[in-house]
Amino acid sequence: MAAFESLTSRLQSVFGKLRGKGKVTEDDVNEAMREVRLALLEADVNFKVVKDFIARVKERAIGQEVVKSFTPGMVIIDIVNKELTELMGGTQAKLAKAAKPPTVIMMAGLQGAGKTTASAKLALMLQKGGHKPLLAACDIYRPAAIKQLQVLGGQIGVPVFSLGDKVNPVDIARQALQHAKDEGRDYLIIDTAGRLHIDEALMEELRQIHEAVKPDEVLLVVDAMIGQEAVNVAQSFHEQLELTGIVLTKLDGDTRGGAAISVKAVTGCPIKFVGMGEKIEPLEPFHPDRMASRILG
Ligand code: GDP
Repeated sequence: MAAFESLTSRLQSVFGKLRGKGKVTEDDVNEAMREVRLALLEADVNFKVVKDFIARVKERAIGQEVVKSFTPGMVIIDIVNKELTELMGGTQAKLAKAAKPPTVIMMAGLQGAGKTTASAKLALMLQKGGHKPLLAACDIYRPAAIKQLQVLGGQIGVPVFSLGDKVNPVDIARQALQHAKDEGRDYLIIDTAGRLHIDEALMEELRQIHEAVKPDEVLLVVDAMIGQEAVNVAQSFHEQLELTGIVLTKLDGDTRGGAAISVKAVTGCPIKFVGMGEKIEPLEPFHPDRMASRILG
């Protein structure tokens, strides 16, 4: 996987140097942390997140057994691993479940982030888990968005509710919810419209859909490839709409990793799922601990 390659190799070289030493001094730890800091900044991790992270690792490393340890490299890697896991949310954040079905999941995001793809992947994941999802096509603006969702729904055998592109998306969402109830579908996934940039009209429409269907989950789909910008996008959406989670897409691509590492710390909103390709496969739950291990190589 191309993602994190450069970050991983840089961190490995830092830890390799420490590993080679039988004993480390406080200066060695400081020097290593300086390099980790640079590696994280280069991976496009948010500046403040890096600063806090390094401070926490240093405190534990210097206060703790590292300088006394016979395997200081291992001890430091372990501390970094734990702190990185914490930074990305600690434990896996689960999908909400409504007390009374259907559970309503609203998908939001900028155009091209991978919203429609992620909606289909989420539907497939739920279906494989024994659920009966319904997809709703509320993106009436992007040409062919409805068709795309219908094609994907057809591929995975999940029904798609659509009223074409002449009906207000708020009404479509409302009717989709009624349809899900009538048909006994236990999850409703609403694919909403995106724009190239965040604008007030888009936010207003999303707020109205939110008001109409009272979703249990509002998932923001963000493209990891845009790095630091993904974190800014998430922050803006979170300020306007009560997000409950993030889907980070295109982690299969050449991302430097910054978004995955900093988005939770900056927005307070957990990454719930990751997208790993264009092919419709079940959406993958995000495990902070596994991601930390993957980054550390
Ligand atoms: P939307 O405008 O947000 O609905 O975005 P789409 O779902 O149409 O996706 C935009 C493009 O990104 C399409 O070409 C998708 O095939 C591609 N895409 C979506 N998710 C992923 C992913 O996880 N990895 C990769 N490599 N491509 C993706």
